[in-house]
Amino acid sequence: MIRYPITATELEAAIEQEKQGWLAKAKKKTSAFRRAKQFNEPDSQYSWGEIKDVFIRLQHNKCAFCDRLLSGPPYGRIEHDLEHFRPKKAVKAWNGNNTYGYRFALGDAAERGYYLLAYNIFNYATSCKTCNTKFKANYFPIAGTRRLTTDDFTLLKQEQPYLVYPLGNLDDDPETLITYRGILPIPKYRNGHKYRRARITIDLFELDSREDLRRLRAEVIQKLWLAFRTLQQRRSKADAPFARRIIDCACSPQTSQVACSRAFYDLCQNDANTARLFAQEADEYLCTN
Ligand SMILES: [Zn+2]
Repeated sequence: MIRYPITATELEAAIEQEKQGWLAKAKKKTSAFRRAKQFNEPDSQYSWGEIKDVFIRLQHNKCAFCDRLLSGPPYGRIEHDLEHFRPKKAVKAWNGNNTYGYRFALGDAAERGYYLLAYNIFNYATSCKTCNTKFKANYFPIAGTRRLTTDDFTLLKQEQPYLVYPLGNLDDDPETLITYRGILPIPKYRNGHKYRRARITIDLFELDSREDLRRLRAEVIQKLWLAFRTLQQRRSKADAPFARRIIDCACSPQTSQVACSRAFYDLCQNDANTARLFAQEADEYLCTN
């Protein structure tokens, strides 16, 4: 996961340009939900799909959670879901699928959901169908108490959510919480809430065990190691600009698994021996899987 920087003004302007009047309608709908104290809109009237392309573009056609690159608009729209970060309807309790044995609270289920956030633009992100349907579903694990009746993000922060919201600067930058050891995502912190946020984000989306993600990371590590070595070897001078472009591209936000690339390239520069081991592991992974 990475952060996609944008201000509220910039996001509102992009939405207004995409679909004039959408924001005003969203405001009206939210007022109605506030009066009804629930999200009661019929499926046929959902209108967040009208602004999905804004988020696809902002996220460079990538899934907010697994960082896979999908096809872009117009043909690739079907591959992206506009995900409600906090579920608009019922919230299901997530217990780690009874696999991880957490010794801390993960938040209760809630019948009503975050009804005031159904049309809040900072409750959206686009994700792949695997992340949205199979993993995220209606889960929203938190350490604190649910605040279902507010759309004030300062109050919502008090819920101490475990999942990390990647758009704008409302939340921690995901790269300050999750780093990589070769192809595997790991928490940057050893304990505390920041450790748990990383751990649960990795576990809930199974970011460390999904083979397609491991393969993408192995491919980029293999490529980055060769580019790094090319830059180091003086006799490869003619290839240096090419190697530099490979590194720049792998470490740019437009590229899949960029947080892994950045962590690995940092390691190349600071501890080349360990980086070489990870590159060999990545190579072995690709040759045996
Ligand atoms: Zn995904």
